[in-house]
Amino acid sequence: MKALCWHGAHDVRIERVPDPAIINPRDAIIRVTATAICGSDLHLYDGVIPTMARGDILGHEFMGEVVETGPGASRLSVGDRVVVPFTIACGHCEPCSREHWSLCDNSNPNAWMAEKLYGYSASGLFGYSHMYGGYAGGQAEYVRVPFADVGPFKIPHGVADEQVLFLSDIFPTGYMAAENCEIEPGDVVAVWGAGPVGLFAMKSAYLLGAERVIAIDRVPARLAMARDLCRAETINFDEEDVLDVLRQKTAGRGPDACIDAVGLEAHGTGSLGARYDKAKTTVMLATDRLEALRQAIVACGKGGTVSIPGVYGGYLDKLPMGAAFAKGLTLKMGQTHVHKYLPRLLDLIESGAIDPSFVISHRLPLESAPEAYRMFLDKADSCTKVVLRP
Ligand code: NAD
Ligand code: ZN
Ligand code: ZN
Repeated sequence: MKALCWHGAHDVRIERVPDPAIINPRDAIIRVTATAICGSDLHLYDGVIPTMARGDILGHEFMGEVVETGPGASRLSVGDRVVVPFTIACGHCEPCSREHWSLCDNSNPNAWMAEKLYGYSASGLFGYSHMYGGYAGGQAEYVRVPFADVGPFKIPHGVADEQVLFLSDIFPTGYMAAENCEIEPGDVVAVWGAGPVGLFAMKSAYLLGAERVIAIDRVPARLAMARDLCRAETINFDEEDVLDVLRQKTAGRGPDACIDAVGLEAHGTGSLGARYDKAKTTVMLATDRLEALRQAIVACGKGGTVSIPGVYGGYLDKLPMGAAFAKGLTLKMGQTHVHKYLPRLLDLIESGAIDPSFVISHRLPLESAPEAYRMFLDKADSCTKVVLRP
């Protein structure tokens, strides 16, 4: 089959690889009908996530048709149309039974690698390094889905691929980020990053009752989407002082909740902290650039919540922990518990409350993936989200 393979920083290639096969009874094989590139893939593309190997197949946002099932994949039949959560979960362990699906104890065969770094391992992920299980991803013609009696969700006919594809990751991710803010009537929510995750966090904040949403980014096309499609007030961090403007917009009290939908590759804002990150990551003395997180913590109003869907990987320098402590902030974060949110968000799509396809800027064949990664990284051609069709 054809698949997109990682070969190093900024080097991904379409290659011919062996078709996947059923290995365990609970596996299914899916023929991919649509797959997308995520901001998380850019961290792999930039080479900042450890334990990738040449030839690894990328992709964790995908959907398709079941073409083969193992004897234990009891809920699925050949021909079913499914969307697959990017977090792999067994459905039976202690974290899974508490709906902490992205923390499954049983889906990462390389848990020891993560344990060395983090103490305990989260779940396995599709197409996301060997530390997260070394699973082949879905930017391919076919993919093996483990625990297929738990993960894949059947999609009714009549709903287009583009409307449900993002249930695999970014819609639940934006929704969980907003839910973690414990929004109350009258709340102002500020969102750093107007990429796909940030845009879904903005929409979700309103769905969950926010009074106002403020978006922070510097890419004009993305700020325009935040304003026009997600009802957000906008701040361009290249042109305005983010902390000053947020203070002005909230009568001096700061947002009730701040969402960091940027993560470890934040762009600098000219601040001392940002210059420090740049210097240290350049000489490999640090892994993460955390300017958005620093701002979110300092900007957040007293007693507020900082919700962090943006990915972080290592030890964070110059984190304003004192500010978080002094203001009694709550910090919430982590990979999304996709399985928990998927059914209720599918209901919202089917009822017409939201159409997630609004984020798509480009539709391309899988063969164009190498160019699409470059374009998405550079935000060229107003690229916000690429859907690839094998
Ligand atoms: P993206 O790269 O398309 O968007 C990030 C946006 O942040 C860009 O528009 C960029 O201009 C903006 N940005 C950069 N520096 C900034 C700064 N200092 N202040 C404000 N904005 C800044 O990525 P995405 O697909 O929207 O994903 C966002 C983050 O969410 C990534 O870190 C991704 O890995 C993570 N993510 C996490 C989960 C999860 O389960 N927690 C799932 C999906 C994605
Ligand atoms: Zn993703
Ligand atoms: Zn489990």
